[in-house]
Amino acid sequence: MNNILRIAIQKSGRLSEDSLKLIKECGIRFDNGAGKLKTAATNFPAEILFLRDDDIPGYVEDGVAHLGIVGENVSEESARNVETVHRLGFSKCRLSIGVLREHDYQGLKDLEGKSIATTYPRLLGKYLKENNVSAQIHEISGSVEIAPSIGLADAVCDIVSSGSTLLSNGLKEVETIFRSEAVMIASKHLSEQQQELLDQLLFRIKAVQVAKN
Ligand code: ATP
Ligand code: ZN
Repeated sequence: MNNILRIAIQKSGRLSEDSLKLIKECGIRFDNGAGKLKTAATNFPAEILFLRDDDIPGYVEDGVAHLGIVGENVSEESARNVETVHRLGFSKCRLSIGVLREHDYQGLKDLEGKSIATTYPRLLGKYLKENNVSAQIHEISGSVEIAPSIGLADAVCDIVSSGSTLLSNGLKEVETIFRSEAVMIASKHLSEQQQELLDQLLFRIKAVQVAKN
């Protein structure tokens, strides 16, 4: 089993389509029958695993998957011991702090002593610490944007791409704390053959990217 590459990608979500497309553009063919959790490539020694994005860094750290495609936001928040081997340029977004639109926001010092709801406690904590702001981090698992309007928190820290979700919840974006795109992560325990396969794959990915620019 140490002579194939197992590649984990998101099963269904914002990363899925571009992840599949990238693998196909690298000339790797496989049958992705609906609902499959695992599939073998037919013309390259690889298997594709279809997972929830949040599980990918852990699988790669453990070596259950050798490679993974995830948002850098998810990879960084997970703090897993994996190698970021390539930036893929899709699924661009940012992690931002938002406050109620009527809040006369002047700057980071306004967040001192306030509570901020987020699903990214680690990245937010790091940012606050670097900026010497002490605020309470309120970790919640979803629907972060409604927190201020229901009085659960003073502010939010969440993923933004166009900003329309913030707007429709009466919020405005006031600070960007992290810029993200999809990245390829790799296990730190690859066999020599797997490292060679990874090099071949990266060579193909770079060729695809050059052809597009
Ligand atoms: P899963 O069911 O796999 O856990 P999810 O709901 O956590 O999926 P998606 O919403 O599909 O995840 O987002 C996957 C990644 O896409 C995000 O982690 C982020 O890197 C990127 N992304 C790009 N734009 C956005 C956006 N507008 N909102 C959320 N994520 C975005
Ligand atoms: Zn997820």
